[in-house]
Amino acid sequence: MSSENLAGKGLATRIIHAGAAPDPSTGAIMTPIFQTSTYVQTAPGQHKGYEYARSQNPTRKALEEAYAILENGKYGLAFSSGVAATDAVIKLMNPGDEVIAASDMYGGTYRLFTKIFEKFGIKFIYVDTTSVDNIKAVVTSNTKLIWLETPTNPLMNITDIAAVSEVAKAAGALLCVDNTFASPYLQNPIDFGADIVMHSATKYLGGHSDVIQGCLAMNDHELREKLYLIQKSCGAVPGPMDCFLVLRGIKTLHVRMRQHCENGILIANWLRNHPKVAKVYWPGFEDNAGYAIAKKQMRGFGGMISFTLKDESIEAANKVLSATKIFSLAESLGGVESLINHPASMTHASIPREERIKNGLSDGLIRLSVGIEDAVDLIADLEQAIG
Ligand SMILES: *Cc1c(COP(=O)(O)O)cnc(C)c1O
Repeated sequence: MSSENLAGKGLATRIIHAGAAPDPSTGAIMTPIFQTSTYVQTAPGQHKGYEYARSQNPTRKALEEAYAILENGKYGLAFSSGVAATDAVIKLMNPGDEVIAASDMYGGTYRLFTKIFEKFGIKFIYVDTTSVDNIKAVVTSNTKLIWLETPTNPLMNITDIAAVSEVAKAAGALLCVDNTFASPYLQNPIDFGADIVMHSATKYLGGHSDVIQGCLAMNDHELREKLYLIQKSCGAVPGPMDCFLVLRGIKTLHVRMRQHCENGILIANWLRNHPKVAKVYWPGFEDNAGYAIAKKQMRGFGGMISFTLKDESIEAANKVLSATKIFSLAESLGGVESLINHPASMTHASIPREERIKNGLSDGLIRLSVGIEDAVDLIADLEQAIG
């Protein structure tokens, strides 16, 4: 259904019908997988809006419409991975431009900024974005982009999107929010003033650990044109099969997310009461530093939880990490199945140890992506692993 027809409809209705229109040539209710590289023209330059599949593909178009609708934006763009979507946003920058980014964020984003883009003369300044004053302190006339992640990976820190958007607007800078951890079901940054929303669709949007993909959503037409130029010129586009998989995954986003949230509440509270657990990182606790802001900008707390043991040794963490049977030891998150991860040696190994420790990411930190299995089984699994 088109965005006009979905305006004012409930979240579940929008999630299921976003970007989905019966195929005009057959009536197929699901958007077909248009596995084609090119499109026949009736005369030179006369075509149906599709010339070459790096620039346009109907399966991708349906998905891009869905991304826009899910994030309350006007435009969506799909990329071959989450980092490819991030890469496109940074390519809006020119040498000498400054980007303020969160000091606690996905390791691959940090790697992209430091190892790839710094050498092109783009300057990245990392601050603890949970305090808006820290951002204000480093804004200069060269600040062109503020890059947020909220909740952050893996410490679940919360940043006030609306407050940072004020700072960005005053500085004439763009605000981009990596919304991967919340998913559009729990948080829509555009509603709080973000210019661009980025997702690793590999995670909750796809939801089944079977595809790598990324996306951007935005409202401004000029910004969309700039990002589309980057998308088609640099070519990091997803194939039609991958677009189909994410379109299919999105249809159950709301039911999956409700269950991720429900299981997340049970496991976070269970962990907190466990005698061997030192600290649980989860924004749903009323005494969590980010709780009030999370309540304001999120509709739930999701299934991502990190924790440390009282025994802070790597050996103790390793014992838990290798003892779980339902939680699989793996990178990634947001799938229906539960995963357990050791950020220091896995997802965040690309961040130097001293940087990690400075940002509060200890060697013993364990991260859970709570799936949608039966909560009793998940808790029993953690119980036998923690001992
Ligand atoms: C996984 C992830 C990314 C990168 O996405 P890919 O699809 O793996 O390229 C970016 N941000 C966050 C928060 C992530 O979890």
